[in-house]
Amino acid sequence: MDIPRIFNITESAHRIHNPITPAKLATLGAALRLETGTRVLDLGSGSGEMLCTWARAHGVIGIGIDMSQLFTEQAQRRAEELGVADQVKFIHGDAAGYVSDEKVGVAACVGATWIAGGVVGTIELLARSLRPGGIILVGEPYWRQLPLTEDVAKGCLAGSISDFVLLPELLASFGHLGYDVVEMVLAGVCSR
Ligand code: SAH
Repeated sequence: MDIPRIFNITESAHRIHNPITPAKLATLGAALRLETGTRVLDLGSGSGEMLCTWARAHGVIGIGIDMSQLFTEQAQRRAEELGVADQVKFIHGDAAGYVSDEKVGVAACVGATWIAGGVVGTIELLARSLRPGGIILVGEPYWRQLPLTEDVAKGCLAGSISDFVLLPELLASFGHLGYDVVEMVLAGVCSR
């Protein structure tokens, strides 16, 4: 089981597989007010940068699941490099349907919500691992302006216009699911 080989090749040198910077990842960790010992679950954990740096900075413990064997191995190596291998564990596998044995304080999926069929399905999946009062963390693209045509959407590397919504709609969708948005950190602009 693995992701398409092209991603393992093109992103083999990436520590972060989405357009967020290390500084913003640190800002996000601080914004969540992570406490020592907080359990974090990360679905689609990539090369583990978020979990490893948060383990080092805040003393969190956690599990990351990723379908790329290469990224999972890199995550494990990164944990050793940062001295947090006893705090975080990376599992190579399909995160679809993954529910942690122990409830977590933060349940995350950053840039991989297709794992459970989109934002709504991913939130429902993450909620099954969440302890009462915990935080769900979702990293999701949104349109800064709606593309006028499907061709424009494809030119933005989206499958279609309907793949994403505008930010106000995205924020409102969390409310419709019964969640309060407590913090938001914007990643960079994805362009090529
Ligand atoms: N959250 C990470 C990775 C985002 S890229 C980061 O921000 O760096 C999307 C990740 O999802 C990739 O690492 C890819 O290998 C992983 N992935 C794709 N499908 C998956 C699945 N079904 N289960 C688990 N991981 C998956």
